[in-house]
Amino acid sequence: MTPQQNISLTSTLALPATARYYGRYQSTSELLSWLGWAQQQGVAVRPLGGGSNVLLAPEVDALVLQSDMCQVQVVHETECHRWVLVDGGCDWHSWVVDSAHYGHGLENLALIPGTVGAAPIQNIGAYGVELAEWVAWVEGVQLSTRQWQRWSAQDCRFAYRDSIFKRELRGDVIITRVCFRLSRRFEPNLSYQPLAEWSAGAQVTPHSLREAVCAIRRSKLPDPAELANAGSFFKNPVVAQPQAQLLQQRWPQMPTYPAQGGVKLAAGWLIEQAGWKGRRLGKVGMHRQQALVLVNYGGASLGDIEALVRQVQTDVWQRFKVALEPEPQRF
Ligand SMILES: Cc1cc2nc3c(=O)[nH]c(=O)nc-3n(C[C@H](O)[C@H](O)[C@H](O)COP(=O)(O)OP(=O)(O)OC[C@H]3O[C@@H](n4cnc5c(N)ncnc54)[C@H](O)[C@@H]3O)c2cc1C
Repeated sequence: MTPQQNISLTSTLALPATARYYGRYQSTSELLSWLGWAQQQGVAVRPLGGGSNVLLAPEVDALVLQSDMCQVQVVHETECHRWVLVDGGCDWHSWVVDSAHYGHGLENLALIPGTVGAAPIQNIGAYGVELAEWVAWVEGVQLSTRQWQRWSAQDCRFAYRDSIFKRELRGDVIITRVCFRLSRRFEPNLSYQPLAEWSAGAQVTPHSLREAVCAIRRSKLPDPAELANAGSFFKNPVVAQPQAQLLQQRWPQMPTYPAQGGVKLAAGWLIEQAGWKGRRLGKVGMHRQQALVLVNYGGASLGDIEALVRQVQTDVWQRFKVALEPEPQRF
């Protein structure tokens, strides 16, 4: 197999980027051929999904691989659940829509951009639901050993926007399939306030819930096709209880949420208080309605984005002594 060379890569942040080598695979044997080629040539391999959570370098000195695999298969079922194995190349939102034929649980995760294969990397989440709740296992190939592996949900060590694939196994795995354990009974998660308000007194169906989630997302988040962005740019920081108490004494209106290992703060609120909501730094800025969303107004470079990230982090730190961590990964 011969890869294409110097191919432009696209991402929702619209950063200019070129892959030195580029290939697509339609089967696991094609994927293995690419890995063999890369090993022979001594070239690094980087999987790319929809490019909605990456900070692309101008020149990616690697073989960038994208998947065309998109099969869905029921592998097991009981009275209460159905286990559905989904190829990593499937579009996430299309799978969420399709999942209604098999079971329930993913409705609140509708309209998140990207692929199924990337979803476990940061344990995608929205409106009270995380991927982790609905994953039975993840399958893929480990690049360092070229072994096929299956990671149970527990092995994945899912946490808030985090998993083993962002830590110990960072950059060492290509996820080829995700097995979902869907519920055959519809029990909507309406814990997110706007969904609770929307549903008050109404008959909630899987379809209406999904549509409500899509409507909320469309009203709140800029569409990357119109204004380049990567969704929420910073993770909501989790701080220890004593620090949260001190912060709340000083800023009683500060929103806080219970979280594993401490108290979760709203990164958007911190950024807004630090004066960055709607503020620009050259070609980039923090969105005027969503302070958490970093936007590229056109023609920005990775350096422009990094300068803004540093500035926002510094200002939030100086005001609150809270560190902000970006969600998108350098690629
Ligand atoms: C408008 C907008 C809204 C968003 N809203 C949310 C939200 O509500 N919740 C949320 O959690 N996220 C959100 N995101 C972030 C993003 O959609 C998710 O993180 C998504 O899972 C990324 O998928 P992708 O295919 O685009 O991954 P990419 O951006 O292509 O890749 C992300 C990382 O995963 C790696 N990767 C990709 N595919 C694979 C694979 N098959 N195997 C191994 N590694 C792989 C890449 O190497 C890279 O490090 C949003 C983004 C945007 C632009």
